[in-house]
Amino acid sequence: MKNLLLTLVLLVSVLLNAQEKKYQPEREKINDLVHTKLKVDFNFEKSQMNGEAWITLTPHFYATNKVVLDAKAFIIHEIKINNTLTPYNYTDNELAIELNRTYKKGEEYTLYIKYTARPNEVKQKGSNAISDAKGLYFIDPKEEDPEKPTQIWTQGETEASSCWFPTIDAPNQKTTQEIYMTVPSKYVTLSNGTLKSQTSNTDGTRTDYWKMDQKHAPYLFFMGVGDFSIVKDSWNGLAVDYYVEKEYESVANDIFGHTPEMMSFFSKITGVPYVWDKYSQIVVRDYVSGAMENTTAVVHGEDAQQKKGQLIDANEWEGTIAHELFHHWFGDLVTTESWSNLTVNESFATYSVYLWFAHKYGKDRADAHMYDDVKVYMDSQSEDKNLVRFFYEDKEHMFDPVSYHKGNAILHMLRDYLGDAAFFQSLNYYLTTYKFGTAEAHELRLAFEKVSGKDLNWFFNQWYFGNGHIKMNVTYDYNTINSTVTVNIDQQGKVFKFPLTIDVYEENRKLSHEVWVDGKQASFTFPFHKLPKLINIDSKHVLLAEINDKKTLENYIFQFNNAPHYLDRREALVEIAKQQTDKDAFSTLIKAFNDPYYEIRILALESIDLFQKYYKKEAIAKIQKLAQNDKKTLVKAAAIGILGKLVDPVYKPIFMRGMNSESYAVIGSSLISLYQIDKGAAVQKINTLNEEIQDLQADAITNIFISEQDKTKLPFIAKHVLKGMFLSSNKSTQQLYAQAFKWISESDNKEAIENLTNDFVKLGLQYKKYNFDKMAVNMLNQMAQTQKQSANANKDELILILKTGMSKLIE
Ligand SMILES: [Zn+2]
Repeated sequence: MKNLLLTLVLLVSVLLNAQEKKYQPEREKINDLVHTKLKVDFNFEKSQMNGEAWITLTPHFYATNKVVLDAKAFIIHEIKINNTLTPYNYTDNELAIELNRTYKKGEEYTLYIKYTARPNEVKQKGSNAISDAKGLYFIDPKEEDPEKPTQIWTQGETEASSCWFPTIDAPNQKTTQEIYMTVPSKYVTLSNGTLKSQTSNTDGTRTDYWKMDQKHAPYLFFMGVGDFSIVKDSWNGLAVDYYVEKEYESVANDIFGHTPEMMSFFSKITGVPYVWDKYSQIVVRDYVSGAMENTTAVVHGEDAQQKKGQLIDANEWEGTIAHELFHHWFGDLVTTESWSNLTVNESFATYSVYLWFAHKYGKDRADAHMYDDVKVYMDSQSEDKNLVRFFYEDKEHMFDPVSYHKGNAILHMLRDYLGDAAFFQSLNYYLTTYKFGTAEAHELRLAFEKVSGKDLNWFFNQWYFGNGHIKMNVTYDYNTINSTVTVNIDQQGKVFKFPLTIDVYEENRKLSHEVWVDGKQASFTFPFHKLPKLINIDSKHVLLAEINDKKTLENYIFQFNNAPHYLDRREALVEIAKQQTDKDAFSTLIKAFNDPYYEIRILALESIDLFQKYYKKEAIAKIQKLAQNDKKTLVKAAAIGILGKLVDPVYKPIFMRGMNSESYAVIGSSLISLYQIDKGAAVQKINTLNEEIQDLQADAITNIFISEQDKTKLPFIAKHVLKGMFLSSNKSTQQLYAQAFKWISESDNKEAIENLTNDFVKLGLQYKKYNFDKMAVNMLNQMAQTQKQSANANKDELILILKTGMSKLIE
């Protein structure tokens, strides 16, 4: 699963931390699933599903005459074994069935269960709202919303597949499957495995028969129903399909088109060719997470669907596409035996994005991505959490920046320590040994030990079964008489053991030293010919570490010009920008405009202060060039934004041209820049944009409307506030919309308050899983308080709108 609501999750996790943590073992295996056959049809009127299930099981080891299945909020009509009705006991969550005799290990039996699934009645055990997963979702089932297509889709992880079929809903179970889905003929369907047949019925419905002969865990089952365009692609003779809404048919290949190449790449690096019988991806409405790796039937949230003008700037979904695909090795083929060991699924899926970016776009792109991921972990206040955690109060909490972002950085460290050949061969050993089965972190350790011949207890104890990360202060003692430098490491807090690479740069040469740090303090002495220009600690940037290392401006300038890693340049540039009144610093900033990697060029643009004395003309000339010619539209957009800040009408033609760009980023920044020099022209331009483009340019337009203090635009702004505040990872976007939220809260604009309230209700219900409903109630309440204290003449009416919204969230 890919979680894209980080802002949300981080906010809410603070609320939840105080609860009790229990020991969470692997689920005991008494009976094993063997095969699952389902026949289902849907009651759109009631948002229910009629189901018949044939569940084949066998005792795991000990003979038994009982089986307990997970089945949430069902109505059970009958249960048979060998065509004979059998007694059962059903509570809301569990179905305990008496078998007709005692079965021994290896003896199979098949249960027939006729039932009705009622996803809207699901109430998961305990008081914790975070587990409020329905498993089966009906989107606009009665076709009441003209803006929304009717769809049905499922979400199994963690244990919600048992909301739509009886099963043993644990990741350590595996079963083959077949599903007969009867749907209105106008819809297409998607499930795991191969579509074997389609049969038209006389009542205007059609029955699609999906079958998968390879076994997988119940949480990976999927059904999707709706009006989708299916864009066809292929890999090695296998069908690779993209299910999108009709409007996105023409860009489906721009969004998903790298999938076959990713399948080849992941097959090659693991040495395990993609094992499943097809690969489909579907984009659905109102999805409750980011994306999910259902075997051969991956589901993506609607943000995957981007317009051409967005895709020209960047396919924001490419990493997610890689993530879900790589789960088809780590997660679907070899599955975590328990949620405590989630790292064996999620850390690998997260790391696959690094691997893919490095392969496809080069190391800078991958390293920039890793930097962002590490930052998410560092900002998440989760230093007290082990990667493998047997104590937690809700399994959903395992889907956090430790399992994803930190685990990803840990794999990167391990790969560096073992070397590429040993690392990837170990992955191959692990995948081939445990394929179609389950594993825990120790099995991963054993695979790495087996292949490399190294003991790795120290690594796993530190990084998998321990918490925190390296924090160290670095100081230097130079001895000019002996021509040596001593590097002193002083670890702060928890003491780690780790290999460390130290690069010593003299004027014309670099010496790389490999050392081990083992203990709180360590010192290493290196000789030099000429006084070093720079000493680069962890020069490969592989450690998960905070390194406090005091460097001079001269060091940083040298670092920017000579040290090759993305982080060397990034770190140097940030420090240089702080001292750009210095002539050399400023000229280095200008030099960064030519950096081969576009994010460095953008960083340089965003850091430069043009209101100072040196080389101003030269800098502006270069920025103008970037604005017109850079091959990356995101760099063009940043450069246009900087030119706008100069408030000089001479650039108007550039902004006007930018408005006709295909790139949405260029259009947006051209609009804001034009506004700086010709407010009337910019506002007029906005009015010529159609509603759809306006919505996609919401950030730029909101920026302008806030500056204009144009209250008539509040309803437009209101529609974009929640997304900007909670679903964007960009700080300035968050701030912009926090400002907009305040403005709307205080206003007397009924339509804007209504729009915002509706969005709070919608998102609150959609992301109940992340407790967003509670936060939405708090925010609406805050708005009501603001109104109460205001002098707005219609405040009673507005408060009523807010209270009505709150009650929808509470019921
Ligand atoms: Zn995932």
